[in-house]
Amino acid sequence: MFNRVALIGVGLIGGSLARALKKHDLCQSIIGFGRSQEELEKAVELGVIDNFGSDIKETVKDADLVIVAVPMSAFESVFSAMADVISDDTVITDVGSAKNSVIEAAKSAFGDLPSGLVPGHPIAGTEKNGVEASFDSLFENRQIILTPTEKSAAGAIEKVEKMWQAVGAETVQMTAEHHDQVLAATSHLPHVLAFSLVETLGKMHESSEIFRYAAGGFRDFTRIASSDPTMWRDICLNNKTAILSVLKKYERHLKTLEIAIEAQDAEAINEIFVRAKSARDEHVS
Ligand code: NAP
Repeated sequence: MFNRVALIGVGLIGGSLARALKKHDLCQSIIGFGRSQEELEKAVELGVIDNFGSDIKETVKDADLVIVAVPMSAFESVFSAMADVISDDTVITDVGSAKNSVIEAAKSAFGDLPSGLVPGHPIAGTEKNGVEASFDSLFENRQIILTPTEKSAAGAIEKVEKMWQAVGAETVQMTAEHHDQVLAATSHLPHVLAFSLVETLGKMHESSEIFRYAAGGFRDFTRIASSDPTMWRDICLNNKTAILSVLKKYERHLKTLEIAIEAQDAEAINEIFVRAKSARDEHVS
């Protein structure tokens, strides 16, 4: 499918995609780029990439596919560094968790949005990071949201779709705005709440005792608070408007529940819990 793939950011997500491309024989070679030479050497040893470049320009030059899998805070500098060596034929995609800010970063780095740019976000991941945590089946049976820009060429969209489908994923397309609102509600808000709950309990005087008796519910609800804090800080900074909008809605619902508990209003509490249970049972398997 591709000759030379340039992978900028060889961590959990980038490394997993590289492994999957190799497993399914979808490219001739993968050349990586990152900040730490040690991590890149490890990636070569693990067989995730074939080689690595010492600067972004050299890495992406002559690549027919460029995959950007760096933290959200690094997109603008990465795009800027490659801007003058990207040709019209180069397909560029990414895996960033917020999409409007990736498109804004591309506009500011490239001036005009490249026709080969097809932003994407795999709805897959783990709480771990780094290339050692990567694995080739991460995207199997998972959804990949693509958010083509008004400049994305039909041929580039098709190539990116086919790549994800070839590694076992299902692709859907939506606007970057819609993506950011949906993900704010389904992923970003739950992470903010989990971090905030553990922070609240951790600050309580008797926290060690509370954590000692933490039962299944606490464990289930807070598992995602073990995710990479830097990545989630970046996501909050890059999807601020959509996260604040859904957080404010949540605060209003929480207040309603607080009032019902305060008033010992059994019926109101029950109604909320029954509605929530049936929504979860219906929509989440
Ligand atoms: P990760 O495992 O920490 O990998 C990030 C990689 O980017 C590291 O290899 C790092 O290399 C490299 N990097 C950092 N700054 C860079 C820079 N300025 N230039 C070049 N390389 C740089 O993180 P990840 O979980 O794969 O996340 C990568 C992206 O995927 C993020 O944008 C995230 O929002 C998105 N995403 C994550 C998940 C998830 O569950 N983890 C799911 C979907 C999407 P060094 O070690 O050398 O710094």
